[in-house]
Amino acid sequence: MCGIVGYIGKRNAYPILIKGLKRLEYRGYDSAGVALISDQQALNVYKTKGKVSELETFVAEKDISGTIGIAHTRWATHGEPSPANAHPHYSSSARLALIHNGIIENYAVLKEKLQSKGYTFKSSTDTEVLVQLIEYIQDKRNIDLLAAVQLALREVIGAYAIAVLDRDHPDVVIAARKSSPLVVGIGEDEFFLASDATPIVEYTDKVVYLAEEEIAVLRRGEPLKIVNLHNVECEHEIQTVALNLGQLEKGGYPHFMLKEIYEQPDCIRDCMRGRINVENTNVVLSAIIDYKERLLAAKRFVIVACGTSWHAALIGKQLIETFCRIPVEVEYASEFRYRDPVIGSNDVVIAISQSGETADTLAAVELAKSRGAFIYGICNSVGSSIPRATHTGSYIHVGPEIGVASTKAFTGQVTVLTMLALTLAREKRSIDEERFLATVQELNRIPDKMKEVLKLNDTIAELAKIFTYAHNFIYLGRGFAYPVALEGALKLKEISYIHAEGYPAAEMKHGPIALVDTEMPVVVIATRNDLYEKVLSNIQEIKARKGKVIALVTEGDTVISKIADTCIELPETIECLDPLITTLPLQLLAYHVAVCKGMNVDQPRNLAKSVTVE
Ligand code: GLU
Repeated sequence: MCGIVGYIGKRNAYPILIKGLKRLEYRGYDSAGVALISDQQALNVYKTKGKVSELETFVAEKDISGTIGIAHTRWATHGEPSPANAHPHYSSSARLALIHNGIIENYAVLKEKLQSKGYTFKSSTDTEVLVQLIEYIQDKRNIDLLAAVQLALREVIGAYAIAVLDRDHPDVVIAARKSSPLVVGIGEDEFFLASDATPIVEYTDKVVYLAEEEIAVLRRGEPLKIVNLHNVECEHEIQTVALNLGQLEKGGYPHFMLKEIYEQPDCIRDCMRGRINVENTNVVLSAIIDYKERLLAAKRFVIVACGTSWHAALIGKQLIETFCRIPVEVEYASEFRYRDPVIGSNDVVIAISQSGETADTLAAVELAKSRGAFIYGICNSVGSSIPRATHTGSYIHVGPEIGVASTKAFTGQVTVLTMLALTLAREKRSIDEERFLATVQELNRIPDKMKEVLKLNDTIAELAKIFTYAHNFIYLGRGFAYPVALEGALKLKEISYIHAEGYPAAEMKHGPIALVDTEMPVVVIATRNDLYEKVLSNIQEIKARKGKVIALVTEGDTVISKIADTCIELPETIECLDPLITTLPLQLLAYHVAVCKGMNVDQPRNLAKSVTVE
């Protein structure tokens, strides 16, 4: 996790660094810091516990001069959030300053070695070991910073994106990455550095994404140079990023999360653009067509993902099995990678990650690839690590998602999975034409139906007030609605800190029903489909035990409205697309409950958006 920003050029670095940190704050926000080589050649490090705004207060009245600097917003892995553990970290002599995203796994061994040589440590982070090691190597061998960084990184086990300043060489920033993302922005006589392109787009659209174990040398007056750990120069491709600034700002909404919930109709249109034909009779994901032989030869699909993406994967499983008749397994990437899974050249692995940087999912991809599986990525961030590690894939194209609780990325993932299943099913001839057409046409109507759902915002905001004081929630659904129940519960947990469980509705009676009493709100997805009558019975079981039922029903439902305590009426759609409708009221419910409780919706405690550590 964590956000890294760097600058070297002719402008004052500090304002650029602070603005960049604010753009990256979604990646971590327990502490923040900045290092600048001042106009008087001092290496100043300022850091605090808390958010970037607290850093700004702390820095007021300090010397913030300098045209070279690095900055960091932290998501602690080793050592509590505190000023001492915040980055940047000085080396012993205070000549070097370093910021780091990731985990140095062998830090304990390295620390002991350095301590035996007389080095002392001021923090309990793994990161400080790295800056001390670089200084030790530099001093011992009398070599320059680049050479010392190369040697130090060759001793390191783990994941890193780093940037280092050397007080005695104020004309260069050295940055490197392995398993954590890093992007260099190229301006006129200036360089930018960041964990993703969002802090850079304001200044330049020319970027270079560093590859694994590459080191960028950002030197004043010289072109960008990229080398590897053995000092071999690496070719690099300058890419143009298409982000616009409006996408990175709240645009009048109180929170990014609400803005992103409201963006969904447009995002889903963007996601389908160019993939569903104008006559609305065909859907084509080009990656599927390009690799159809390989995909159709597969004996099974395995989907690896984490968190919200894992819930999208559960919907993807049902879509692919229903339309393509190919068996699909869904795995938590973190379990898959450490389980010695049975995986081989007959398998297709689909990896889903909004950021494209999720460490566990990336590791699962590498593992499956090494065993010969064909890898298909479904990501949002263009050019991120997972799309680069996969054989092919499809972007969800929903634009930057800043709110930590994922919303539009989830519906974007489900939309891509729907198009994937439909494209493949048609190639396999496992879906009849009538069903194919009906599904494509209905998919095309989903953005308008989403707009209808969003009109319920005020009603849901009122409803949320009643439940602000609940300590627990249960969410129930069956079939396609079961993963939606899981996702609804996760949203509530993430941002309101209310304990919530999602269950397949029929599982209630095997245990969780014991929790139901007059205090227990139970959200039931009970839209009209083949399982409607069954879900109705489940609602009766809850009401018989005096639970409070909030039911999501199809417009015009007259049966459940007589039994449930509250009904939210939603536009009708076909069962397999229902998640794209029913998810929205659950996002809004979680959002409004959290707002009523006064929570920081965009930056909930302990979480970070892009989970680049294990
Ligand atoms: N492992 C480092 C720390 O705990 C970096 C964490 C991060 O990526 O923010 O300070």
